[in-house]
Amino acid sequence: MHGNQRVGGSGMDIRSKARTISGPVSDPSKLPKWNYDGSSTDQAPGIDSEVMLYPQAIFKDPFRRGNNILVMCDCYTPSGEAIPTNKRFNAAKIFNNPAVASEETWFGIEQEYTLLQKEVKWPLGWPLGGFPGPQGPYYCAIGAEKAFGRDIVDAHYKACLYAGVNISGINGEVMPGQWEFQIGPSVGISAADEIWIARYILERITEISGVVLSLDPKPIEGNWNGAGAHTNYSTKSMRSPGGYEIIKKAIGHLEKRHDVHIAAYGEGNSRRLTGSHETASMDIFKWGVADRGASVRVGRDTEKSGKGYFEDRRPASNMDPYIVTSMIAETTILLD
Ligand code: ADP
Ligand code: MN
Ligand code: MN
Ligand code: MN
Repeated sequence: MHGNQRVGGSGMDIRSKARTISGPVSDPSKLPKWNYDGSSTDQAPGIDSEVMLYPQAIFKDPFRRGNNILVMCDCYTPSGEAIPTNKRFNAAKIFNNPAVASEETWFGIEQEYTLLQKEVKWPLGWPLGGFPGPQGPYYCAIGAEKAFGRDIVDAHYKACLYAGVNISGINGEVMPGQWEFQIGPSVGISAADEIWIARYILERITEISGVVLSLDPKPIEGNWNGAGAHTNYSTKSMRSPGGYEIIKKAIGHLEKRHDVHIAAYGEGNSRRLTGSHETASMDIFKWGVADRGASVRVGRDTEKSGKGYFEDRRPASNMDPYIVTSMIAETTILLD
C-alpha cells in the first residue's frame, strides 16, 4: 500500500513524494518519520542536506484511492529543530496554548486563485494578447463565455470531499479565470492543514489539465480584481451570548497590530490592497458591518444576533495559513 508524503518546500511551492508502508494507518503518530534532500529544495546546505519529515495529518488520497493516504508533514533538522520554512511548528505552539485551545477557535478560509494558460501564463479563457470584456458578468457565472475552467474546479471540489477536507463551497470570481473555494469552519490548526492539502490537490488537478495554478494576489494589473484569502474567525466566547462585545474587543487588538499582520499576510499584497476592487488600502485599518471595502468585516447576522464571527479581508491568496490563523489567535486571545 502507498503512503503519499508531502512537503512545503522553500517559499510557496508544495513538494511531495510517495512511499509504501505495510498496512493501513489512521493515526499520524503511528507513521514512520521520513526524510528528503534539503539541498534540492533550498532548505539545507549540500554538506549536511538531510531534512526530516514528521507526519502531522492524514487525508484520503483522491488520486490513488483505495487504502492510499495523503500525509501532511512538517520539516525538521536531524537533531529535531524545526527548519526556518516550517511555519506549522510555531502555529501548533500557539494553538496548543491552553488559553487558545479552550476558546475552540474556528476558521473559515476563502481561497481565491487564478487559472493560467500554461504556454503564455495568461488567464484561462482570455484571448491571446488581449482582454475579455470588463468585470461584471463573471462572478458566480455560468456559460462558455463567462466561466472558464469549471471542470478543474469541480474535480477539485469532489476530490477534497473524498479526501476528507472540510471544503464548504466553491464559486466563480469577479475576474474571469479566477475562482474560489472555502474551507471550514475548521478548528484550530486543522484549517491551515486543510488549506495546504486543498492547494496540493488543486495543483495536482491543474497538472493533469495542463493548466497553471497561480496564487498571485494581483495576477493582472489594472481594472481587474486581485485574489485574496479572506479569513473568517470566531472563538467560543464570540459564538456565545454577548459575543459581539468580544468581537469588537478582538478587532481593537487587530487594529493595534495592523502593521505586524500586514507584514505577514502574503508577498505582493500591496499590489492588491489598494482601496479599490473590494479592498481597504494597506495603510489603514478600517472595520465595518457588511462593508466589503473594510479591512475587517462583521456580517449583518452577527450584528443582529449579538454573537458570531468576523472576516479578516486582508490576507492575500498566497498567504501561509499557519502564520495567518495562529497570528489572529495570538493577537485576539493571548495579547489581552
Ligand atoms: P463571503 O460572503 O465573504 O464570500 P463565504 O461564504 O465565501 O463568504 O465564506 C464564509 C466562510 O466563513 C466559510 O468558509 C464559512 O465556513 C466560514 N464561517 C461561517 N461561520 C463561521 C464561524 N462562526 N467562525 C468562523 N468561520 C465561519
Ligand atoms: Mn467568498
Ligand atoms: Mn471571493
Ligand atoms: Mn469574503
